[in-house]
Amino acid sequence: MQFYRHGLSSADAKGIAEVLDTPFLTSGAVGKKVEAQLCAFFGQPHALLVNSWTNGALAALLAMDIGPGDEVIVPAQTFIATANMVELIGAKPVFVDVDPDTLLMTPEGAAKAATARTKLAMPVHMYGQMCDMKGLRAALPKTVRILEDCAHCFEGTRDGEPPGKHSDLAIFSFYATKNVTCGEGGAIVTGDAELHAKLQQTRLHGMSAIAADRFKSGQYRHWDMARLGVKANLPDLLAALLPDQIATIRARLPARTALVERYRHAFANLPIRLAKLDPGAVSADHLFPIHVKPAKRDEAIAALNAAGVPVTVNYRSVPTLTYYREKYGYGPGDFPASYEWGEGEITLPLWPGMPDADIEKVIETVKTAVVPLVR
Ligand SMILES: *Cc1c(COP(=O)(O)O)cnc(C)c1O
Repeated sequence: MQFYRHGLSSADAKGIAEVLDTPFLTSGAVGKKVEAQLCAFFGQPHALLVNSWTNGALAALLAMDIGPGDEVIVPAQTFIATANMVELIGAKPVFVDVDPDTLLMTPEGAAKAATARTKLAMPVHMYGQMCDMKGLRAALPKTVRILEDCAHCFEGTRDGEPPGKHSDLAIFSFYATKNVTCGEGGAIVTGDAELHAKLQQTRLHGMSAIAADRFKSGQYRHWDMARLGVKANLPDLLAALLPDQIATIRARLPARTALVERYRHAFANLPIRLAKLDPGAVSADHLFPIHVKPAKRDEAIAALNAAGVPVTVNYRSVPTLTYYREKYGYGPGDFPASYEWGEGEITLPLWPGMPDADIEKVIETVKTAVVPLVR
């Protein structure tokens, strides 16, 4: 049984072959086309393709002049990349506990963590469900910017709105396992023209123009560097895999949601916790997590694996990982909801096109091998 299988095949290579017939293998016309498509999809004036969520976040932190002495609010329950980029830039990640039911950063939690040094908050739309962005924007001081970590949520909405409507910018991941993928990649969407202009630079070494534009006039033009940047641009070779996926992603969501509904229905009355969906939220259903008694979690994983069911853990609470624990002295009691969830979480196989027999086998194995352990 496979934990995940992307939806791409050699039939999707046509766009890549077309790029190979042009002079520009890296960021050029295809990327610009996809950026326009992203603007239309999210209803925003600006979009920038990047080579990963992680490098996009780095480019964003540089564009917002965040660095030493600054604080950035990050949920304790997320993938490490969210906090790591704040560390790397020399700012301080200020962790906040998540809601124990939805596993999302809350407006109240974020507001309590804000200080005079807070420059940014980074809510994470865990498992595909959007945080209360309107609430977050209202709860935080106006001077605090908001960056949405949308790695799990491309097609999800909240109260009918997609990511990016109540924040300064939203960053997506097109990593191999994400709902929209080109192997490695990502995108930044923003309504802020000034931030967009800075991002164009920080995405590419801090240079004032991308290569395709520098050569367009037929006459060499000097470029300048006014701010520090990273190498975060996405090559057209990979961008070519995106247009069809973006065009069909909304139509493909019901297939994912149907699998999730089957899991939810099957596990409804068992000694297993499921993440709660807020009314008004349409989840992108990126992952399907269950939560069992923490003392029995690893035994439950072993039992699932022994039966041939592959699983992952998303995620052990970030402040409890060695680097953060040793640097900041955090313990299990500091962010209890994140810790409790992270010690009992198991992510089950989920992908559109997952064979029916596999879904049945996962459900059966949870009922017969996990439930007796954790009851
Ligand atoms: C995957 C992921 C990232 C990192 O994305 P990359 O494109 O691999 O850099 C960041 N945050 C979350 C929540 C993720 O799941």
